[in-house]
Amino acid sequence: MFFKQVIGQEEIKQRLRNMVQEARIPHAQLFFGGEGSGNLPMAMAMVRYIFCKNRTETDSCGACSSCLKLNKLAHPDLHFVYPIASNKDVKVSTDVIAEFREAVLNQPYLNQQDWFNELNAENKQPIIPAEESNEIIKKLSYTSFEGGVKIMVIWQPEKMNHSAANKLLKMLEEPPDDTLFFLVSSNPDQMLSTILSRTQLVKFSLTRDEDIAAALTSTYHCPGEQALNIARMAEGNYREALKILSETDSNLQFLQHFQSFMRICLKFDAFKITQWIDETAALGREKQKYFLHFALQVFRECLMMNYADATLVKLRGEELVFAKKFAAFVHQGNYEKLVEEFNSAFYHIERNANPKILFMDLALKTNELINVKQGLAKS
Ligand SMILES: [Zn+2]
Repeated sequence: MFFKQVIGQEEIKQRLRNMVQEARIPHAQLFFGGEGSGNLPMAMAMVRYIFCKNRTETDSCGACSSCLKLNKLAHPDLHFVYPIASNKDVKVSTDVIAEFREAVLNQPYLNQQDWFNELNAENKQPIIPAEESNEIIKKLSYTSFEGGVKIMVIWQPEKMNHSAANKLLKMLEEPPDDTLFFLVSSNPDQMLSTILSRTQLVKFSLTRDEDIAAALTSTYHCPGEQALNIARMAEGNYREALKILSETDSNLQFLQHFQSFMRICLKFDAFKITQWIDETAALGREKQKYFLHFALQVFRECLMMNYADATLVKLRGEELVFAKKFAAFVHQGNYEKLVEEFNSAFYHIERNANPKILFMDLALKTNELINVKQGLAKS
């Protein structure tokens, strides 16, 4: 990670560069900011800038021996501590260092959920266990391999178990020589106040909408207006913006698929429905499930538009344009039955029903249901 890859936060970048250039880096800093504010990638960029042998006024060189090692996050004087899903094979951070490096390199705006997905440990409790404190002491007891400083990045220090936190506190009170600590947290209120008082706070504000939008456009070629819409929805969280972007892309495909399904069902067209079913059968079960899930979401949003507060409607862009027209077909007279049929289709797809038979059946039922006029529902 380079400073130039961290989105926005220019003021913090400048402050950090000054620290390095003037050789007055505090021995322990806390990079505190909400998810997607960039505190983790900023810590990575700062580490690179400190280690870089040929840094410029503004960033690391990218070509020196240190930079090459940091391309893989594998520098002998750089140590990481982060929450793990502790089990018989995984006791300390180092046991899953390969996975951690890969996760951060793939997604520098890593959040807790991304990390535990990477570990296939979604349902486990993230913790920095007591065993980690001995590791920390051991790692920092060596002299620096490359003759410069040693750096320890502690991601989510608030997940430290009590005894690990106390040992860290001792280290911060009597720091080993030539050692820098970067604590990176979104929840410092859950940390020991004694640890907080030993660190210099670097507070990250939300990433600005314009900065998020510009990054979406330059990195993912997302058109300007759409990028700004996504940035606004993400509320300063770049990680969230990326999630919305990926959902928007796949949602658009499903929207088109849904539109043609509804058009065919409205005036039952046997030839077109067979074509549609062949296409859908070829998508595979996961996408078929997503299609049904997407349809259920559209029905619900349509009902909201008709009967509830329009500000609660979550759809945006093309989906919203479509839903506004389609809402007339979804009402109290058929909503429950539509939901029941699509839910039942979902249930059966999950249990390996034949998709061709299932979607034909669903098309026939949908044809009947969306032609029910409002107020004329059969009981
Ligand atoms: Zn370099």
